Amino acid sequence: MIEERLDSGEADDGFLLDGFPRTIGQAEMLEQALTKRGRRLTAALLIEAPDEEVVRRLSGRRTCVKNGHVYHVEFDPPKNDGVCDQDGSRLVQRDDDKPETVQKRLAVYHEQTEPLIQWYEERGLLRRFDGTRTPEEVNSHIRATLATLALEDEI
Ligand SMILES: [Zn+2]
Repeated sequence: MIEERLDSGEADDGFLLDGFPRTIGQAEMLEQALTKRGRRLTAALLIEAPDEEVVRRLSGRRTCVKNGHVYHVEFDPPKNDGVCDQDGSRLVQRDDDKPETVQKRLAVYHEQTEPLIQWYEERGLLRRFDGTRTPEEVNSHIRATLATLALEDEI
């Protein structure tokens, strides 16, 4: 799938993989696929947050049953509890956002994905971001880092 996208031309000027790779095996496959094409990763971005913060943020999400509008009980609450501002339909917590589901996903993350931190660190590619900051702050830190990396890449 990723190899197809790499060969399609749309990634010629660069690409960002969101949530991939998730295991060392996938990282190795990606590295091979890129090397084969004379390319390499510029950086691996890690947004770090403690488990309890991840649970708090994800389990606070509420989704409208009709059109999928998303709210957050703490960070972006609807005007009326449990009701979508835009279409008046009911807001629910998706199964994916239930605390017990988030905990399970975190356990998988710690077991399978976390080893990638050291893997990319050893390759000098890891860039860390503080995920406890606001989304706007994290976004601007990432943009600033990417801009710097793009400049270094041209030298
Ligand atoms: Zn809605």
